[in-house]
Amino acid sequence: MTAITLNDVTKRFDDVTAVDSIDLTINDGEFLVLVGPSGCGKSTTLRLLSGLETVTEGAITANGRDLTDLAPKERNVAMVFQNYALYPHMTAKRNMTFGMKSAGDYTDEEIEQRVTEAAAILDIEDLLERKPKALSGGERQRVAIGRTLVRDPDYLLMDEPLSNLDAKLRIQMRAELSQLHDELETTTLYVTHDQTEAMTLGDRVAVMNEGQIQQIAEPQVLYDYPANQFVAEFIGSPAMNTLPVTVTDEGDHYVATSTSGDVKIQLPDTGDLEALVGEDLRLGIRPEDMEEDTGTDDSYVRTTVSVTEPLGDSMLLHGHVEGELLKFQIAARSALNPGDTVTFGVDSDRIHLFDAETGAARY
Ligand code: ATP
Repeated sequence: MTAITLNDVTKRFDDVTAVDSIDLTINDGEFLVLVGPSGCGKSTTLRLLSGLETVTEGAITANGRDLTDLAPKERNVAMVFQNYALYPHMTAKRNMTFGMKSAGDYTDEEIEQRVTEAAAILDIEDLLERKPKALSGGERQRVAIGRTLVRDPDYLLMDEPLSNLDAKLRIQMRAELSQLHDELETTTLYVTHDQTEAMTLGDRVAVMNEGQIQQIAEPQVLYDYPANQFVAEFIGSPAMNTLPVTVTDEGDHYVATSTSGDVKIQLPDTGDLEALVGEDLRLGIRPEDMEEDTGTDDSYVRTTVSVTEPLGDSMLLHGHVEGELLKFQIAARSALNPGDTVTFGVDSDRIHLFDAETGAARY
């Protein structure tokens, strides 16, 4: 039973602030995914939790116990790395038990029993006597995970553990990791730059950028209610479209329009719409929330198709509005071609408005 908390934690390397005053709690038994672009501070956060890096400011606690200045081995934490970090000259089994034997905290019988259990959970019973070079990438990663299971850690840290696997195996291992966590419920922080991995694995997802946590929420909440433009554009593929608009009061309703008039959207009557009038805003619409030929006089996005990308189950169109590239995900086998002018209908319940300057969600 372990909840881990980072309290106002900052990590600086000389003049680089890798982690900037973050507050984060990984609840007991939770699988929390930390996602963000390269260099945003994910691995540093994970290394601070492991004890491999020391914090510059702030505190790390586990169930209230102060871990901040403890060495890795005093934290009862286990880590799984991208490159597996297995010893090449040791068998899979020896790799799994090495840490336990050297710690001397377990009897031989206990070690044997834990390896048997972990091997059964991970379906690697037949691989235990092989050395890493005789294992596939996925098998190596299972052994690396097995090594963490036998130690029964208070919490588990995973740094891009699937990124060296091919696409098919990655998807398979993703499902296996999910299942494993459902069984074991070890408090886990999982770092990735892949938003699909984050969405599919996380009980909650923390989106990070430039050393700061932008939003922490359940995957669907992040997708439906991004707190700012960064999260909106980072979560979802293809990314959310955004373009500049202004809101006007039309008497009995409010509309968001672009300067050229190619976008006009009647806003559903929720929240303080009057506060948006005349503000510099960016409209956000996901590619899947627009539909070909359903525009009305009140709500539409008009564009000329520049590129068509058939995806098999759907089609992606590119078009420019206000000089910005927009993407539209429409039904497969559409007869539209580059050069065609189309008026799309918009699901106005699913649009977003962001402050053009700060990026904060305003609607
Ligand atoms: P990636 O996905 O590319 O691994 P990341 O989000 O994990 O990126 P970090 O590795 O945490 O990012 O790095 C955050 C910032 O801190 C980067 O600007 C990086 O260059 C810097 N940084 C990380 N480790 C060190 C170090 N030991 N010394 C100096 N700067 C560092």
